[in-house]
Amino acid sequence: MRRIFSGIQPTGIPQLGNYLGAIRNWVGLQRDNECIFCLVDMHAITVWQDPAALREQTLAQTAVLLASGIDVQRHILFNQSAVTAHARLAWIFNCVARLGWLNRMTQFKDKAGKDRENHSAGLYVYPDLMAADILTYKATAVPVGDDQRQHLELTNDIAQKFNHDYGLDFFPIVEALIPPQGARIMSLRDGTKKMSKSDPSAQSRIEMTDDADTIALKIRRAKTDPEPLPAEESGLENRPEARNLVTIYATLQQCSIQDVLNQHGGEGFGPFKKALTDVLVQHIAPIADETTRLLKEPGFLRDTLRDGARRANVIAEPIVAEAEALVGFLK
Ligand code: ATP
Ligand code: MG
Repeated sequence: MRRIFSGIQPTGIPQLGNYLGAIRNWVGLQRDNECIFCLVDMHAITVWQDPAALREQTLAQTAVLLASGIDVQRHILFNQSAVTAHARLAWIFNCVARLGWLNRMTQFKDKAGKDRENHSAGLYVYPDLMAADILTYKATAVPVGDDQRQHLELTNDIAQKFNHDYGLDFFPIVEALIPPQGARIMSLRDGTKKMSKSDPSAQSRIEMTDDADTIALKIRRAKTDPEPLPAEESGLENRPEARNLVTIYATLQQCSIQDVLNQHGGEGFGPFKKALTDVLVQHIAPIADETTRLLKEPGFLRDTLRDGARRANVIAEPIVAEAEALVGFLK
């Protein structure tokens, strides 16, 4: 049985891309794997978070994950800062990773933009903490969206250098589990930018707690081009917004892009957007309803995270203590 680790930042309500690129796969992987899922609050503060909002979002995300089908009886769900082993291993990895490796990370470039000098040092070393999150548990498979591919390659570089420097096959090689479709859902306002829960425009994303009217409005306003849908997939070339809406439809329905075009090719965006709204509501409404119910029980949500942290710590502590001993820290 593989050990799976994956995380999500409590920087807002999970959006459709988080669901299709990550969370839905987490749910499926629970069947045959030992899973550890984490609300990565230490990653979240690499950009400013209002403290009260961070607490609230951590609980809200817990509710969305439970509502999506994360099973905390059989698997582990907790918030990162509650297991201190992550921070200890991250510090070691800050000393293993090379500046040149971090300089190549495109997520830092995307998030920092031109104003690089004014961003936190934490945002820069974010990938070292992510490597620590995974290797704190010696997890071997990590279900993520496409934007995390480069960070997982870095995780393997760090693991290999640690193993080389300290003379042991201590950390395993990690495999990225990236879904063949839906691994990069794009913004509803700009088909060249990925959908993100921290995008300043709420119109750019569908949130997993949006009600039917909100979904309908966001899809109606989603950017498109004036052409009808093509009959063939090749007709979506250079039409990023059209491709994105078709991809969302296909991924939700677990069919291919060509299947969607066989059904809707030749239609204008008016009717297609209506059909897409129906499919979105059908998938999101049950999750949104259950989330609303769970949010009325903040004590239960807190207890769930606390119990998860306790169980995560039992796995993490001996692994990180051994890594520290290998480095030469005196106990
Ligand atoms: P933020 O804007 O704060 O970075 P985010 O929406 O990018 O938020 P993360 O918490 O960084 O979400 O990522 C959680 C998981 O969701 C990761 O596995 C990531 O690869 C995946 N993911 C994020 N955005 C998308 C997307 N647009 N399409 C598919 N998967 C995505
Ligand atoms: Mg992100």
